[in-house]
Amino acid sequence: MSLRIAIVGAGVTGATIARMLADRDVAVDVFEERDHVAGNCHTVWDDRAACFQHVYGPHIFHTDSDRVLAWVERFTNLLPYKHSVKAQALGAVYGLPINLHTLNQFFGQTFSPDEARRHLSGLTDKGVDPEESFRTRALSLLGPDIYQAFFESYTRKQWGIEPDQIPASILKRLPIRFNYDDNYFFHAIQGLPEGGYTTMVQNALDHELIHLHLGQSVRFDALRASYDHVFWSGPIEAVFDADEGYLPYRTLDFDTRHVDGDAQGCAVMNYPAADVDFTRCTQHNYFRSSRDTSEISVSLVSYEYSRTWEPGDIQYYPVSLLGENALLKRYQARAAAIDGLHLCGRLGKFAYMDMDVAILDAMTLMDDLFQGALQDAGVRG
Ligand code: UDP
Repeated sequence: MSLRIAIVGAGVTGATIARMLADRDVAVDVFEERDHVAGNCHTVWDDRAACFQHVYGPHIFHTDSDRVLAWVERFTNLLPYKHSVKAQALGAVYGLPINLHTLNQFFGQTFSPDEARRHLSGLTDKGVDPEESFRTRALSLLGPDIYQAFFESYTRKQWGIEPDQIPASILKRLPIRFNYDDNYFFHAIQGLPEGGYTTMVQNALDHELIHLHLGQSVRFDALRASYDHVFWSGPIEAVFDADEGYLPYRTLDFDTRHVDGDAQGCAVMNYPAADVDFTRCTQHNYFRSSRDTSEISVSLVSYEYSRTWEPGDIQYYPVSLLGENALLKRYQARAAAIDGLHLCGRLGKFAYMDMDVAILDAMTLMDDLFQGALQDAGVRG
Protein backbone atom coordinates (compact mmCIF):
# COMPACT_ATOMS: atom_id res chain seq x y z
CA MET A 1 0.00 0.00 0.00
CA SER A 2 1.31 3.46 -0.82
CA LEU A 3 2.21 5.95 1.87
CA ARG A 4 -0.52 8.31 3.00
CA ILE A 5 0.84 11.75 3.70
CA ALA A 6 -0.90 14.88 4.95
CA ILE A 7 0.59 18.34 5.16
CA VAL A 8 -1.12 20.96 7.26
CA GLY A 9 -0.54 24.50 6.05
CA ALA A 10 0.27 25.72 2.53
CA GLY A 11 2.85 28.36 3.40
CA VAL A 12 6.47 28.17 2.27
CA THR A 13 7.09 25.28 4.66
CA GLY A 14 4.14 23.13 3.60
CA ALA A 15 4.75 23.84 -0.08
CA THR A 16 8.44 22.91 0.18
CA ILE A 17 7.64 19.60 1.87
CA ALA A 18 4.82 18.82 -0.56
CA ARG A 19 6.97 19.47 -3.61
CA MET A 20 9.98 17.54 -2.31
CA LEU A 21 7.69 14.55 -1.81
CA ALA A 22 5.92 14.94 -5.16
CA ASP A 23 9.33 15.19 -6.87
CA ARG A 24 9.94 11.69 -5.50
CA ASP A 25 6.61 10.40 -6.83
CA VAL A 26 4.86 10.52 -3.47
CA ALA A 27 1.27 11.79 -3.44
CA VAL A 28 0.31 14.24 -0.69
CA ASP A 29 -2.79 15.96 0.63
CA VAL A 30 -2.23 19.58 1.66
CA PHE A 31 -4.81 21.12 4.00
CA GLU A 32 -4.96 24.88 4.30
CA GLU A 33 -7.55 26.57 6.48
CA ARG A 34 -7.43 29.88 4.61
CA ASP A 35 -8.74 30.34 1.09
CA HIS A 36 -5.28 31.03 -0.33
CA VAL A 37 -1.81 29.51 -0.26
CA ALA A 38 1.44 31.20 0.86
CA GLY A 39 0.51 31.70 4.51
CA ASN A 40 1.57 35.08 5.84
CA CYS A 41 3.68 35.94 2.79
CA HIS A 42 0.50 36.00 0.68
CA THR A 43 0.47 38.77 -1.91
CA VAL A 44 -2.41 40.17 -3.96
CA TRP A 45 -2.05 42.34 -7.04
CA ASP A 46 -3.61 45.76 -6.49
CA ASP A 47 -4.74 47.33 -9.75
CA ARG A 48 -5.18 50.87 -8.48
CA ALA A 49 -1.69 51.16 -7.07
CA ALA A 50 -0.24 48.77 -9.69
CA CYS A 51 1.72 46.75 -7.16
CA PHE A 52 1.56 43.62 -5.06
CA GLN A 53 0.05 44.08 -1.63
CA HIS A 54 1.88 42.17 1.09
CA VAL A 55 -1.37 41.33 2.82
CA TYR A 56 0.15 40.13 6.09
CA GLY A 57 2.96 42.66 6.29
CA PRO A 58 6.25 43.23 4.50
CA HIS A 59 8.08 40.09 3.37
CA ILE A 60 11.49 40.32 1.73
CA PHE A 61 13.21 37.17 0.62
CA HIS A 62 16.85 37.01 1.70
CA THR A 63 19.25 34.14 2.19
CA ASP A 64 22.86 33.02 2.13
CA SER A 65 21.93 29.52 1.07
CA ASP A 66 22.53 28.62 -2.59
CA ARG A 67 20.27 25.64 -2.07
CA VAL A 68 17.35 27.77 -0.89
CA LEU A 69 17.96 30.26 -3.68
CA ALA A 70 17.96 27.52 -6.32
CA TRP A 71 14.76 26.09 -4.82
CA VAL A 72 12.94 29.42 -4.87
CA GLU A 73 14.15 30.17 -8.40
CA ARG A 74 12.56 26.96 -9.61
CA PHE A 75 9.20 28.56 -8.92
CA THR A 76 9.72 32.27 -9.56
CA ASN A 77 11.98 34.83 -11.11
CA LEU A 78 13.50 36.89 -8.29
CA LEU A 79 13.62 40.60 -8.96
CA PRO A 80 16.70 42.40 -7.63
CA TYR A 81 15.78 44.28 -4.48
CA LYS A 82 17.61 45.86 -1.57
CA HIS A 83 15.65 46.55 1.59
CA SER A 84 16.47 49.57 3.68
CA VAL A 85 14.13 51.07 6.23
CA LYS A 86 13.54 54.62 7.41
CA ALA A 87 12.50 55.63 10.91
CA GLN A 88 10.74 58.76 12.07
CA ALA A 89 12.08 59.69 15.48
CA LEU A 90 12.55 62.92 17.43
CA GLY A 91 11.11 64.97 14.56
CA ALA A 92 13.54 63.68 11.93
CA VAL A 93 13.86 60.81 9.46
CA TYR A 94 16.76 58.41 9.96
CA GLY A 95 18.04 55.41 8.03
CA LEU A 96 17.85 51.89 9.48
CA PRO A 97 19.47 49.61 10.29
CA ILE A 98 21.72 51.78 12.46
CA ASN A 99 24.64 52.73 10.21
CA LEU A 100 27.22 55.48 10.00
CA HIS A 101 24.73 57.86 8.38
CA THR A 102 22.22 57.28 11.22
CA LEU A 103 24.94 57.85 13.82
CA ASN A 104 26.28 61.01 12.19
CA GLN A 105 22.78 62.41 11.78
CA PHE A 106 21.76 61.46 15.31
CA PHE A 107 24.86 62.98 16.96
CA GLY A 108 25.14 65.88 14.47
CA GLN A 109 28.67 64.78 13.56
CA THR A 110 30.81 63.82 10.56
CA PHE A 111 32.44 60.78 12.17
CA SER A 112 34.60 58.33 10.26
CA PRO A 113 33.86 54.67 11.07
CA ASP A 114 36.56 54.57 13.75
CA GLU A 115 35.48 57.87 15.27
CA ALA A 116 31.89 56.65 15.44
CA ARG A 117 33.00 53.44 17.14
CA ARG A 118 35.02 55.41 19.68
CA HIS A 119 32.18 57.84 20.30
CA LEU A 120 29.65 55.05 20.85
CA SER A 121 32.07 53.14 23.01
CA GLY A 122 32.14 56.13 25.37
CA LEU A 123 28.34 55.95 25.70
CA THR A 124 27.69 52.24 25.94
CA ASP A 125 27.08 50.39 29.15
CA LYS A 126 30.11 48.17 29.91
CA GLY A 127 28.59 46.80 33.08
CA VAL A 128 25.90 44.68 31.45
CA ASP A 129 26.02 41.32 29.71
CA PRO A 130 25.02 41.80 26.04
CA GLU A 131 23.67 38.26 25.92
CA GLU A 132 21.31 38.81 28.83
CA SER A 133 18.39 40.47 27.04
CA PHE A 134 17.30 42.71 24.17
CA ARG A 135 17.78 45.70 26.46
CA THR A 136 21.28 44.87 27.69
CA ARG A 137 22.43 44.09 24.17
CA ALA A 138 21.14 47.41 22.87
CA LEU A 139 22.62 49.37 25.78
CA SER A 140 26.00 47.68 25.48
CA LEU A 141 26.24 48.19 21.71
CA LEU A 142 24.46 51.48 21.16
CA GLY A 143 24.12 53.34 24.45
CA PRO A 144 20.97 54.76 26.04
CA ASP A 145 20.14 57.58 23.60
CA ILE A 146 19.96 55.45 20.48
CA TYR A 147 18.31 52.66 22.41
CA GLN A 148 15.55 54.97 23.60
CA ALA A 149 15.09 56.73 20.27
CA PHE A 150 14.84 53.64 18.06
CA PHE A 151 14.38 50.46 20.07
CA GLU A 152 12.82 50.75 23.49
CA SER A 153 9.31 51.91 22.67
CA TYR A 154 9.17 50.16 19.29
CA THR A 155 9.95 46.91 21.05
CA ARG A 156 7.32 47.54 23.73
CA LYS A 157 4.73 48.24 21.03
CA GLN A 158 5.77 45.25 18.95
CA TRP A 159 5.99 42.67 21.72
CA GLY A 160 3.82 44.11 24.50
CA ILE A 161 6.48 43.33 27.08
CA GLU A 162 9.53 45.04 28.52
CA PRO A 163 12.74 44.74 26.46
CA ASP A 164 14.55 43.24 29.46
CA GLN A 165 12.22 40.22 29.18
CA ILE A 166 13.05 39.66 25.50
CA PRO A 167 16.02 37.57 24.32
CA ALA A 168 19.08 39.34 22.86
CA SER A 169 18.66 37.22 19.72
CA ILE A 170 15.82 39.47 18.57
CA LEU A 171 18.15 42.45 18.35
CA LYS A 172 20.70 40.27 16.56
CA ARG A 173 18.31 40.17 13.60
CA LEU A 174 19.33 43.74 12.83
CA PRO A 175 22.79 44.73 11.59
CA ILE A 176 24.63 47.62 13.25
CA ARG A 177 27.07 49.10 10.76
CA PHE A 178 29.90 51.58 10.99
CA ASN A 179 29.83 52.37 7.28
CA TYR A 180 27.14 53.80 5.00
CA ASP A 181 25.70 50.43 3.97
CA ASP A 182 22.01 50.61 4.86
CA ASN A 183 21.06 47.12 3.70
CA TYR A 184 18.56 45.89 6.30
CA PHE A 185 19.76 42.30 6.04
CA PHE A 186 23.07 40.49 6.55
CA HIS A 187 22.50 38.11 3.65
CA ALA A 188 24.13 38.52 0.27
CA ILE A 189 21.11 37.28 -1.67
CA GLN A 190 17.93 39.36 -1.62
CA GLY A 191 14.97 39.64 -3.95
CA LEU A 192 11.23 39.70 -4.53
CA PRO A 193 9.30 37.12 -6.56
CA GLU A 194 8.31 38.76 -9.83
CA GLY A 195 4.74 37.47 -9.78
CA GLY A 196 4.32 37.77 -5.99
CA TYR A 197 4.80 35.16 -3.28
CA THR A 198 1.41 33.54 -3.78
CA THR A 199 2.18 32.67 -7.39
CA MET A 200 5.58 31.37 -6.31
CA VAL A 201 4.00 29.06 -3.73
CA GLN A 202 1.23 28.06 -6.17
CA ASN A 203 3.91 27.07 -8.68
CA ALA A 204 5.63 24.92 -6.05
CA LEU A 205 2.30 23.21 -5.32
CA ASP A 206 1.39 22.78 -8.98
CA HIS A 207 2.03 19.06 -9.37
CA GLU A 208 -0.34 16.22 -10.18
CA LEU A 209 0.58 14.38 -7.00
CA ILE A 210 -0.19 17.37 -4.76
CA HIS A 211 -3.83 17.57 -3.77
CA LEU A 212 -4.55 20.96 -2.29
CA HIS A 213 -7.58 21.41 -0.02
CA LEU A 214 -8.13 25.12 0.53
CA GLY A 215 -10.47 26.49 3.17
CA GLN A 216 -10.25 23.27 5.15
CA SER A 217 -9.21 23.30 8.76
CA VAL A 218 -8.33 19.88 10.11
CA ARG A 219 -7.89 18.29 13.49
CA PHE A 220 -4.82 16.21 14.14
CA ASP A 221 -6.79 13.33 15.63
CA ALA A 222 -8.83 12.97 12.44
CA LEU A 223 -5.71 13.03 10.25
CA ARG A 224 -3.87 10.59 12.44
CA ALA A 225 -6.39 7.89 11.69
CA SER A 226 -6.04 8.26 7.92
CA TYR A 227 -2.39 9.17 7.31
CA ASP A 228 0.99 7.55 7.99
CA HIS A 229 2.78 10.88 8.21
CA VAL A 230 1.43 14.29 9.15
CA PHE A 231 3.58 17.37 8.54
CA TRP A 232 2.11 20.03 10.79
CA SER A 233 3.04 23.66 10.14
CA GLY A 234 0.14 25.03 12.18
CA PRO A 235 0.58 26.07 15.82
CA ILE A 236 2.04 23.24 17.87
CA GLU A 237 -0.68 23.45 20.54
CA ALA A 238 -3.37 22.98 17.90
CA VAL A 239 -2.16 19.39 17.47
CA PHE A 240 -3.61 18.85 20.94
CA ASP A 241 -6.58 21.21 20.58
CA ALA A 242 -4.64 23.47 22.98
CA ASP A 243 -5.77 21.23 25.84
CA GLU A 244 -3.11 22.69 28.14
CA GLY A 245 -3.64 26.26 26.99
CA TYR A 246 -2.38 28.55 24.23
CA LEU A 247 1.19 29.65 23.67
CA PRO A 248 1.78 33.42 23.46
CA TYR A 249 1.69 35.09 20.05
CA ARG A 250 1.44 38.58 18.66
CA THR A 251 -1.09 39.36 16.00
CA LEU A 252 -1.21 42.38 13.71
CA ASP A 253 -3.93 44.73 12.53
CA PHE A 254 -3.43 46.65 9.30
CA ASP A 255 -5.05 49.92 8.35
CA THR A 256 -4.63 49.82 4.57
CA ARG A 257 -5.49 52.70 2.25
CA HIS A 258 -4.91 54.17 -1.18
CA VAL A 259 -3.34 57.60 -1.21
CA ASP A 260 -2.84 59.88 -4.22
CA GLY A 261 0.78 60.37 -5.21
CA ASP A 262 3.86 58.85 -3.62
CA ALA A 263 2.95 58.59 0.06
CA GLN A 264 6.26 58.07 1.85
CA GLY A 265 8.99 57.44 -0.72
CA CYS A 266 10.15 54.09 0.64
CA ALA A 267 8.84 50.60 1.35
CA VAL A 268 8.90 50.71 5.14
CA MET A 269 8.90 53.64 7.56
CA ASN A 270 9.23 52.69 11.25
CA TYR A 271 7.69 54.77 14.02
CA PRO A 272 9.64 53.95 17.16
CA ALA A 273 8.06 56.68 19.32
CA ALA A 274 5.80 55.73 22.23
CA ASP A 275 3.14 58.30 21.33
CA VAL A 276 2.46 56.75 17.90
CA ASP A 277 0.27 53.65 18.17
CA PHE A 278 1.40 51.85 15.03
CA THR A 279 4.88 50.36 14.67
CA ARG A 280 5.48 50.94 10.97
CA CYS A 281 3.93 51.92 7.68
CA THR A 282 4.48 49.90 4.54
CA GLN A 283 4.13 51.42 1.08
CA HIS A 284 3.63 48.40 -1.11
CA ASN A 285 4.51 50.17 -4.35
CA TYR A 286 8.17 50.06 -3.35
CA PHE A 287 8.23 46.27 -3.35
CA ARG A 288 9.53 46.28 -6.88
CA SER A 289 12.80 45.79 -8.71
CA SER A 290 15.49 48.21 -7.54
CA ARG A 291 15.90 48.97 -11.26
CA ASP A 292 12.32 50.25 -11.55
CA THR A 293 12.27 54.02 -11.17
CA SER A 294 8.80 54.68 -12.61
CA GLU A 295 6.73 57.36 -10.92
CA ILE A 296 4.10 56.36 -8.39
CA SER A 297 0.73 58.04 -8.94
CA VAL A 298 -1.34 56.06 -6.40
CA SER A 299 0.18 54.62 -3.23
CA LEU A 300 -1.03 51.64 -1.26
CA VAL A 301 -0.04 52.05 2.38
CA SER A 302 -0.60 49.86 5.44
CA TYR A 303 -0.22 51.10 8.99
CA GLU A 304 0.70 48.17 11.21
CA TYR A 305 -0.52 47.72 14.78
CA SER A 306 0.70 44.90 16.99
CA ARG A 307 -1.35 43.38 19.80
CA THR A 308 -1.73 40.26 21.94
CA TRP A 309 -3.02 37.29 19.95
CA GLU A 310 -6.37 35.86 21.00
CA PRO A 311 -8.11 32.71 19.74
CA GLY A 312 -9.53 33.46 16.30
CA ASP A 313 -6.74 35.91 15.38
CA ILE A 314 -3.95 35.09 12.97
CA GLN A 315 -0.66 34.22 14.61
CA TYR A 316 2.23 36.32 13.30
CA TYR A 317 4.98 36.16 15.89
CA PRO A 318 5.63 33.51 18.54
CA VAL A 319 6.58 35.41 21.70
CA SER A 320 9.78 34.06 23.21
CA LEU A 321 10.47 35.35 26.66
CA LEU A 322 13.69 34.85 28.56
CA GLY A 323 13.86 31.59 30.43
CA GLU A 324 12.16 28.33 29.73
CA ASN A 325 8.70 28.07 28.25
CA ALA A 326 7.37 25.13 30.26
CA LEU A 327 4.13 24.87 28.27
CA LEU A 328 6.03 24.72 24.97
CA LYS A 329 8.34 22.05 26.40
CA ARG A 330 5.35 19.95 27.42
CA TYR A 331 3.71 20.19 24.01
CA GLN A 332 7.03 19.39 22.33
CA ALA A 333 7.53 16.32 24.52
CA ARG A 334 4.04 15.09 23.74
CA ALA A 335 4.53 15.70 20.02
CA ALA A 336 7.87 13.87 20.01
CA ALA A 337 6.10 10.80 21.36
CA ILE A 338 3.73 10.63 18.39
CA ASP A 339 4.99 8.47 15.52
CA GLY A 340 4.64 10.04 12.10
CA LEU A 341 4.02 13.58 13.36
CA HIS A 342 6.51 16.14 12.07
CA LEU A 343 6.30 19.68 13.40
CA CYS A 344 7.62 22.32 11.05
CA GLY A 345 7.48 26.00 10.17
CA ARG A 346 7.30 29.12 12.34
CA LEU A 347 4.20 27.98 14.21
CA GLY A 348 4.95 24.25 14.39
CA LYS A 349 8.40 24.99 15.79
CA PHE A 350 7.26 28.08 17.72
CA ALA A 351 10.32 29.91 16.37
CA TYR A 352 10.78 33.38 14.86
CA MET A 353 11.98 32.03 11.51
CA ASP A 354 12.33 34.01 8.30
CA MET A 355 11.15 32.52 5.02
CA ASP A 356 14.58 31.25 3.96
CA VAL A 357 15.15 29.63 7.35
CA ALA A 358 11.73 27.97 7.20
CA ILE A 359 12.47 26.60 3.72
CA LEU A 360 15.90 25.29 4.71
CA ASP A 361 14.48 23.79 7.89
CA ALA A 362 11.82 21.98 5.86
CA MET A 363 14.45 20.74 3.39
CA THR A 364 16.65 19.45 6.20
CA LEU A 365 13.71 17.66 7.80
CA MET A 366 12.98 15.97 4.47
CA ASP A 367 16.68 15.11 3.88
CA ASP A 368 16.63 13.28 7.20
CA LEU A 369 13.40 11.46 6.43
CA PHE A 370 14.58 10.52 2.93
CA GLN A 371 17.58 8.89 4.62
CA GLY A 372 15.45 7.34 7.35
CA ALA A 373 11.76 6.61 7.87
CA LEU A 374 10.66 7.46 4.33
CA GLN A 375 13.50 5.52 2.74
CA ASP A 376 12.51 2.51 4.83
CA ALA A 377 8.99 2.96 3.45
CA GLY A 378 10.31 2.78 -0.12
CA VAL A 379 10.66 6.48 -1.00
CA ARG A 380 13.80 7.14 -3.00
CA GLY A 381 16.33 9.42 -1.30
N1 UDP B 1 13.18 46.89 16.29
C1 UDP B 1 13.14 48.09 16.97
N2 UDP B 1 13.05 49.24 16.25
C2 UDP B 1 12.98 49.25 14.90
C3 UDP B 1 13.02 48.01 14.22
C4 UDP B 1 13.11 46.85 14.95
O1 UDP B 1 13.17 48.13 18.19
O2 UDP B 1 12.89 50.33 14.30
C5 UDP B 1 13.28 45.65 17.10
C6 UDP B 1 11.90 45.14 17.51
O3 UDP B 1 11.99 44.53 18.77
C7 UDP B 1 11.62 44.13 16.42
C8 UDP B 1 13.00 43.50 16.22
O4 UDP B 1 13.90 44.61 16.36
O5 UDP B 1 10.67 43.17 16.82
C9 UDP B 1 13.21 42.82 14.89
O6 UDP B 1 12.92 43.73 13.85
P1 UDP B 1 12.55 43.24 12.36
O7 UDP B 1 12.51 44.46 11.51
O8 UDP B 1 13.49 42.15 11.97
O9 UDP B 1 11.08 42.66 12.59
P2 UDP B 1 10.02 42.00 11.57
O10 UDP B 1 10.18 42.63 10.22
O11 UDP B 1 10.28 40.52 11.60
O12 UDP B 1 8.72 42.36 12.22
